[in-house]
Amino acid sequence: MKGRKLLMIPGPIEFEPEVLQALGAPTTSHTAPNFITSFGNCLKMMKQVWECPDGQPFIMAGTGTLAMDMAGANLIEPGDKALVISTGYFGERYAELLKRYGADVTILKSEPGHTVDFSAIEEALKTNDYKLMTFTHVDTSTAVRVDPKPIGELGRKYNVLTVLDGVCSIAGEEMRQQEWGIDVALTASQKAVGVPPGLALLVASSKAMETWKNRKTPVGNYYCDWSNWLPIMQAYEEGRPSYFGTPAVNLVAALEVSLKMILAEGMEKRVVRHEALAKEFRQKIRDMGFQMMPVNEESSANTLSAIYFPETINGSEFMAGMAKSDVIIAPGLLPELKGKYFRVGHMGSVNRSDIVSVLAAIEKTISQLKNLP
Ligand SMILES: *Cc1c(COP(=O)(O)O)cnc(C)c1O
Repeated sequence: MKGRKLLMIPGPIEFEPEVLQALGAPTTSHTAPNFITSFGNCLKMMKQVWECPDGQPFIMAGTGTLAMDMAGANLIEPGDKALVISTGYFGERYAELLKRYGADVTILKSEPGHTVDFSAIEEALKTNDYKLMTFTHVDTSTAVRVDPKPIGELGRKYNVLTVLDGVCSIAGEEMRQQEWGIDVALTASQKAVGVPPGLALLVASSKAMETWKNRKTPVGNYYCDWSNWLPIMQAYEEGRPSYFGTPAVNLVAALEVSLKMILAEGMEKRVVRHEALAKEFRQKIRDMGFQMMPVNEESSANTLSAIYFPETINGSEFMAGMAKSDVIIAPGLLPELKGKYFRVGHMGSVNRSDIVSVLAAIEKTISQLKNLP
């Protein structure tokens, strides 16, 4: 498309034309039969993408942070102990959020580029009575990916609810919520799910729903309260009209198209595509003399990369040069390292020519910097 720049940031991303078309269709009533069917289809397809057949999906108008808020609001009661496993900016956010609901929060924080040792997590669970632990599947500030499987195992072993912030991973990285025993897995539409910003998406396990049902205190957030939304989700899945807050009708229509495309590709193939493109990108970037923030391949995300500037490159000059190219990338996000690195998103509809385009833009920018007087 002439004059359009390639959007390679960790969300929003490039969206499929079919998805954007759905967004532009005439808005229907939120109780129209077609819309009820679309909403119900989305809920059913979410369970497939998340691989959580017995889970309870929620679709809300809002951002990923609202999905984080929904989990915190419904699962925390004042005084509950919560463990936050933080691998970057969004871990810190979760800690702040849980405190608002009266949680007694402990943070286990890794150095940028590293993960938190599982032995440290187990030690914390052994010596404390946590109700819930959160972790970030892929932290968008560091591009560090955490393996959810052992955390799910620890959650089951110590009877602690597990909340996975999958805003930068779900529909891009491998996700087996039910098999791994993850109690809440949440995301937002604008990342690997491939729909413009505006939807918060969450799937809760039966254990999470049970914990919420057994609360002794009311949920401290009216809009997020599952008492308000559970009947709505159940109605849509059963094909009945219902209302609590007006759903984002056009975005839900676009979500249906995107989820269908995701399932048509198949999650397994989709994960392999993300993996192959990310690996190739990291290798080529290293060949250019850059260093990745994640310390090893094992903990490197396939949905985005975080890349340190080498000594020889001035970060702000590089970003200014890239701003003149046809590719949009993102600056660093961790406050303590902000000017020291940049980020490239490669998720959702990403293909090989997108990867080649970013690499070419980076190469060109570097060579222009070197030619400066
Ligand atoms: C983007 C992101 C969020 C926040 O999502 P918003 O839609 O911006 O509120 C939370 N966690 C992670 C891992 C993210 O990548």
